[in-house]
Amino acid sequence: MPIPLVNLQQQHDELYDEVRNAIDRVIDRSDFILGSEVEAFEEEFAAYCEVKHCIGVGSGLDALTLAMRGLGIGQGDEVITPANTFVATALAIKQTGATPVLVDHDPATYNLDPRRLSAAITPRTKAILPVHLYGHPADMDPIQTIANEHSLLVIEDACQAHGARYKGRRCGSMGRAAAFSFYPGKNLGALGDGGAVVTDDDSLAEWIRAARNYGSTVKHRHAIRGVNSRLDNIQAAVLRVKLRYLDEWNQTRRWLASEYCKLLGGSDVILPTERDDVEHVYHLFVIRHIERDGLLEHLLRRGVIAAIHYPVPIHRQVALGRACLVPSPVTYTDTFCDQLLSLPMCPYLTLGDVESVAHEVASGLTRLSAPRTHVARTQVDSVSFSESSLPG
Ligand SMILES: *Cc1c(COP(=O)(O)O)cnc(C)c1O
Repeated sequence: MPIPLVNLQQQHDELYDEVRNAIDRVIDRSDFILGSEVEAFEEEFAAYCEVKHCIGVGSGLDALTLAMRGLGIGQGDEVITPANTFVATALAIKQTGATPVLVDHDPATYNLDPRRLSAAITPRTKAILPVHLYGHPADMDPIQTIANEHSLLVIEDACQAHGARYKGRRCGSMGRAAAFSFYPGKNLGALGDGGAVVTDDDSLAEWIRAARNYGSTVKHRHAIRGVNSRLDNIQAAVLRVKLRYLDEWNQTRRWLASEYCKLLGGSDVILPTERDDVEHVYHLFVIRHIERDGLLEHLLRRGVIAAIHYPVPIHRQVALGRACLVPSPVTYTDTFCDQLLSLPMCPYLTLGDVESVAHEVASGLTRLSAPRTHVARTQVDSVSFSESSLPG
């Protein structure tokens, strides 16, 4: 049996009755768009994130875009974000009309390095958009200090960090606003697309509430040019069920990560680190190795569905490369993209799965370090594999 990157099937088998009832409740009321489940979820998720407002939208990408648009970011502005992130972060900046400015990350946490911010700030800089990548919180205090010095907004991309904490504070509660995604593979995932903006800012919340719904709060009155990006009631009902399990699932992820670290401790892969003042939620368990491609091929051949986040940095993407500014070399991003490897991680892995994965990593490393014969190399070259389609 292959070990999947994320085992959604198992999660849905266990929650089948609860999720089914939630969906039936919505169907019985024929109340599909926005509606009472969305309102209840927004209240519950705002409380969970320890903020005043949550506004459900269609995706994480839309949450980022609407948060920035609502804060007045647009044409002529620059927004600083890490170079190693999912494409949506930079795409959202671009969609507002602003220019993404990419900076390198801290090699230990893979998050935006605050020491690189000052050099990237220009008179056009309007905001900093840190990403809590892989579920490890970005170093928000120095980021906020620099932002304050230059009167910049801080908006969090919390799409991989539901429930994570930085110095006791929830990810999503620290910036002016934060974006979450409920893509099925995220730590809190719907049965389709979904997203949310969370914020303490009353007027921003009001703007997004209108903007997500064609710019209307009063029927047939459109004060702003909005979009159609509404969380639907079925997804909200499902998310309400799953939110009750989120802390327990995150604890399991943390425990599985610690088991991976124990088992892989002596090997020459570079393990993820967790700062003392944060609670990492391990959306992904990302290791690094110089011979990543060989290791990945070995794992896939042995039924361990590992993946890469992310193989092609944003500044080398056809759609975005020339739209971004890269003021200083992003050396870590450029080298690590050939070394990063995400091992299977989700709350439904067993300790046995983690042991099997660690065992296969070890045997892959042994193979890679052995002198290769011509035959062995031909075998490796003939193996084809497809990457997981999960963006998260
Ligand atoms: C998943 C993700 C997004 C986008 O979320 P969607 O719901 O897929 O639009 C944005 N940023 C990061 C870091 C993500 O992981």
